[in-house]
Order: sequence, then structure tokens, then C-alpha cells
Amino acid sequence: MSRDFEHVALIGLGLIASSISHAMRRAGMKARITGHARSIETRDKAADLGLCDQVFDTASAAVAGADLVILAVPVGAMATIVAEIAPHLRKDVILTDVGSVKGAVIDAVAPHISNDVEFIPGHPLAGTEYSGPEAGFASLFDNRWCILTPSGDNDPHAVTRLRDFWQALGANVDTMDAEHHDLVLATTSHAPHLIAYTMVGVADDLKRVTETEVINYSAAGFRDFTRIAASDPTMWRDVFLNNKDATLEILGRFTEELFALQRAIRIGDGDHLHAYFTRTRAVRRSIIEAGQDTDIANFGRGVQDTDDA
Ligand code: NAP
Repeated sequence: MSRDFEHVALIGLGLIASSISHAMRRAGMKARITGHARSIETRDKAADLGLCDQVFDTASAAVAGADLVILAVPVGAMATIVAEIAPHLRKDVILTDVGSVKGAVIDAVAPHISNDVEFIPGHPLAGTEYSGPEAGFASLFDNRWCILTPSGDNDPHAVTRLRDFWQALGANVDTMDAEHHDLVLATTSHAPHLIAYTMVGVADDLKRVTETEVINYSAAGFRDFTRIAASDPTMWRDVFLNNKDATLEILGRFTEELFALQRAIRIGDGDHLHAYFTRTRAVRRSIIEAGQDTDIANFGRGVQDTDDA
């Protein structure tokens, strides 16, 4: 195991940062943890919860002396934060982030930092629909993937230290280039979120279906969409604005497939529908086999919650 960090600064104190703090403590890490968030309410809450050894009113004060700085703010806030903290970073610091988009974060961060800073972008593929400092928990990253997108300029030793850090928090770590990350995540996360937002919006718009009916008779499919569509509006606005090309590419493909399925329904092509659904069922099986979800029926919800679609 490479050298432990002595001082970790968390910028942003929401779901992801608070989970990092809990998981660091669970792992027995001795590092001093400092933090900063934009609002006094969040800073006070983080202090009450004991997420940090010290919470600072400014990001610059929080990063002073830190050998690992983790940016855990919405993607659209990264550039402003980095411009502010850059002059206060320690020379040998490792700077990373947890943003859901990588290309845009690199574009936002890179112009502000000097060559002394080891900037290694990261993204833990773990989250819930809740946000804020109280939403975090120590096991959030357990057996989930954390993707690092280092560049050829990074010191391999620094990448190993960051990899070890995430592994100690419970995550599996993979590396890939930022552009590939953004395409993969557009497919597995960003486009599905947009589809969920749309479906819940459509149900809400349908004047023929009263609000009570949508709520009382919501089958599991719709309920699952509503959970995703309850995700933080700021975070997701920033994801779509910053992963524009990859998301639009995947949505284009989605629309083509949707039209093909629509046509199969209209012309009664049951073979097409059956073959398609057989293929998609196999994808679900692979996710379970990879240990990325439970095989308990209906995500482990009680039997009364079976899909009544
Ligand atoms: P969150 O719970 O909403 O927390 C965001 C934190 O950032 C809050 O403490 C907020 O402070 C702070 N913040 C926002 N703008 C700021 C600014 N301009 N200056 C300083 N602090 C600021 O969000 P999260 O879920 O932890 O997400 C954080 C990052 O992780 C995002 O980049 C997101 O893309 C990424 N991520 C999220 C998930 C997920 O499922 N949630 C999963 C993986 C990665 P206030 O409370 O004071 O506004």
C-alpha cells in the first residue's frame, strides 16, 4: 500500500463528500479532514455531524496544507472553485474530483492549476437520489466502481495513491480516458436519467390521469422512474449541460430504437418484441452476475410491492 494521506480537504459537503468522510473513518484512516461548502447551513450541519475535523468558511482556507483535495461540488461549480483554491494548493498536492462528467471538468480545472499539481479526475459510480451532508453513509462505495481518468502527464505513483485511497473506501477502481468515460456514462446513467425525468414529466402532464391515480396505481416501473427523477436538479442540470455530445448521441440511438419498437407494436411484430426483450433480460443477468445489483425479486422490496404492471 502506498503512503497514506495526512490531510484530506473536501470541497462541497453533500452526499458524496459526507460518504467519503464516513468511509475514511470506517477504514481507520488517520488523515485530518477539512471541509468547505457554499452555505452556512451546510457548513453548520457538517460540523454538527462531525464530518470534518474543521469546517472553513472559504475553500482556500480548507485546502491549505492538504495533500489530497477532493472537489465534490456540482460539475458547473468546479471552474470557480478551482480558480479560487489554485494559489493556496500545496506544491505536491493530489487534486481530484468526483464529478459525473470528466471531459468538461478537465476543461474547467486544467487552465487554473500549475504543473506541480497532480490533477487526477475521478468519478465514483455510486449515489442515491438524496443529497446534502446528512445523506452520506460509510458503505456507499462498497463494491462500486470508481473510474479515474489520469492523463499521460500524471505521476504513476500519484495515481496509485489515489487508487489505494478509493479501494480503502470500499470501491473497485478502473482507469480510462475521459472521453470514453463520458460516452459510457451517457449510456449507463445520463440518458437513463433523462428518460426517467421525461416519463415522470409525461405522467404529471397527463390530464386524463388524475394525480391520485398516478400515485396510487403506480406500478414498479413508474415508481423506479420516480426515484431516479427525484435526483438533485442542480447536479443533473450540470451533467446534461456538460456531457452534451455523448448524451445527445445516445439519445439519438435511443430514439431510433424506440421508433423500431413502436413500429413493431403497431404492425403486431411479436417476434421482434420478444427477441428484443430476451436480449435486454440478459443484460440484467450480467449486472447481477457482476455483483452490481441484487437478484432478489423487485430489488428486494417486500412481496406486496410486486410489479403490478
Ligand atoms: P450534493 O449532495 O448536492 O452536495 C453538493 C455540495 O456542493 C454541497 O455541499 C453544496 O453546498 C456544495 N456546493 C455547491 N456549489 C458550491 C459552490 N459554488 N461552492 C462551494 N460549495 C458548493 O451533491 P453530491 O451528490 O454530493 O454531488 C457532488 C458531485 O458528485 C457532483 O459533481 C456530482 O456530479 C457527483 N456525483 C454525484 C453522484 C450522486 O448520485 N449524487 C454520484 C457520483 C458523483 P451547499 O449545500 O451549501 O449548497
